Amino acid sequence: MTKMTRRHALLAGAALPLAAAVRPARAAAPMMGPARPPFNRFTLGSFEVTTILAGSRTVPDPQTIFGLNVAPERFAAVSEAAMIPADKAQFFFTPTVVNTGAELILFDTGLAPRGTVAALEAAGYTPDQIDTVIITHMHGDHIGGLMENGTETFSNARYVTGAVEFDAWDMSGDESFETKMRPLAEKTRFLEDGDEAVPGVTAVAAFGHTPGHMAYRLESDGNALLLGADFANHYIWSLAHPDWEVLYDRDKEAAAATRRRLLDMLAAERMPFIGYHMPFPALGYVEKQETGYRYLPASYQMMLE
Ligand SMILES: [Zn+2]
Repeated sequence: MTKMTRRHALLAGAALPLAAAVRPARAAAPMMGPARPPFNRFTLGSFEVTTILAGSRTVPDPQTIFGLNVAPERFAAVSEAAMIPADKAQFFFTPTVVNTGAELILFDTGLAPRGTVAALEAAGYTPDQIDTVIITHMHGDHIGGLMENGTETFSNARYVTGAVEFDAWDMSGDESFETKMRPLAEKTRFLEDGDEAVPGVTAVAAFGHTPGHMAYRLESDGNALLLGADFANHYIWSLAHPDWEVLYDRDKEAAAATRRRLLDMLAAERMPFIGYHMPFPALGYVEKQETGYRYLPASYQMMLE
């Protein structure tokens, strides 16, 4: 514009803020999709503990898995009160890496090598750095990452698992056990309740979910944490209601008794725990309530210097 009267200029100037306000935003930044880092690292005494998210997915109709022994109305009401839907749930699969300073331990291996290795690498480790793989129990979402097509994922690892658990699967003919776990039997050390896997890592019998399911107590410089694996698999449906039956608990009565025993211990000792299927980063505390327990996701407790 070459010739602009003062009046035009004023009008143009006056109109500018309005024009700017109604002009559509350009949205030059692309939509990124929901995201969160696939690892969370903190210290426990002189140990470094890293939870790694090997996989996550939305699962429909969760009452086909949790709360088998309660009415749908009850399941819906409990879910609604906890601000979560009753018709779908997010599932998480969270192996844990522990660097004791003497060795690098991986607890459980996800559904398949790919997701676990990707999360492991995002956390700064390579599969060949893993010295020991500890298997809490032999469901496919825990042993699935051990091998693929006959090749070990963690090429330098030795293996540790519960004796009762291995024996329980031994004659089962289960395909994932036969292809992922049995080929490693000769490299595997078998533990009983109370045995030490490595210094500072002790097996805690947590039978019920599977016949020989083990949790592990980590302890370093007077700091303790329970690696609970699958003793409780939902932060509301299992913690607030430990007696709600779970499809995947092989012995439902024993699993509920184990849940109450470990939740009591966690609440009494004010000890943090990692749950393999808890919402990522899978780290929290337990408060005892009148009937069940309340899950308190960790905030900054493990960041304090
Ligand atoms: Zn599991």
